[in-house]
Amino acid sequence: MNVLYSADQIAARVTELGAEITEHYHGIDEPIVLVGVLRGSYVFMADLARHIPRPLEVDFLSASSYGDATVSSGEVKLKTDLREDIAGRHVLVVEDIVDTGHTLAKLRAVLMERNPASLKFVSLLDKPSRRENSERADWLGFTIDDLFVVGYGLDAAGLDRNLPYVGVKSFD
Ligand code: 5GP
Repeated sequence: MNVLYSADQIAARVTELGAEITEHYHGIDEPIVLVGVLRGSYVFMADLARHIPRPLEVDFLSASSYGDATVSSGEVKLKTDLREDIAGRHVLVVEDIVDTGHTLAKLRAVLMERNPASLKFVSLLDKPSRRENSERADWLGFTIDDLFVVGYGLDAAGLDRNLPYVGVKSFD
């Protein structure tokens, strides 16, 4: 496995992101809602939440993933919905990676319909060269080339999520 970002590099970046996000919500008294997009964001979300020292709640949803394929079908469906109503809430969606941008676009549309007070996105990784729309997360950990990456929550056919680093998967 070719290590792209080590556990230490990720930890340093997550600390920075936490500080920027905390600063952004400064002055808002009510708890914000961190929405984790299962399953790829679970490690990032757990670490990021501990670097946002303010009142917050967590909730989760899942969108249809690639399954065992490594390319997006383009059609994204909400598979598991949030437990809580987000009307009037400040919502921060936590994504693992923005690739084609279809998932982000779908989540933005679905969640905006519920009238949150605000809706922001943070993604650990971004692959802008693969984008098929104009979506962009508000905060990004790392921008990467068109590579298939695993680890730190991201999987290859269900495995590799427990790697402490982000690595490039080679399929030979
Ligand atoms: P998008 O809808 O932006 O094309 O895809 C978003 C989802 O595709 C991500 O949340 C992630 O689950 C999956 N994905 C995209 N690129 C990669 C990658 O390089 N590695 C892994 N493991 N998943 C990816």
